[in-house]
Amino acid sequence: MTTLEILRLRQAALRVRLIADEVGAAEPMRHGDAADQAVRRGGLEQSFTERELLLEQMRAIDRALDRLAEGTYGMCEACGEAIAALRLQAIPEAALCRGCQAEAERRARVVRVRIADEPEDEEEA
Ligand SMILES: [Zn+2]
Repeated sequence: MTTLEILRLRQAALRVRLIADEVGAAEPMRHGDAADQAVRRGGLEQSFTERELLLEQMRAIDRALDRLAEGTYGMCEACGEAIAALRLQAIPEAALCRGCQAEAERRARVVRVRIADEPEDEEEA
């Protein structure tokens, strides 16, 4: 299978999951008691997060297809080095090499910690 075929297959599989997610979310919440509905609401919130992840993956695959068309597929978007073949096998839409991915995740964690450290508005009042 070519990289293009693999990426297109992953894209198709994601589309199916997104559509299945929409159908599930549209289900009315009339039935069940309060506890049941709370569980359902929890499930819905979870599915929003999962939906975000699916959409993010979708965008990553779109960008990988663009890179494939441009002939830059397999090159790290941050440092320009070749992404390891094993990494591309595991994550065909990977845009960053292992080193840059680790650095990006470290930065994202630092930002999250900083946000958590910010005092809340209510506490200031
Ligand atoms: Zn890199």
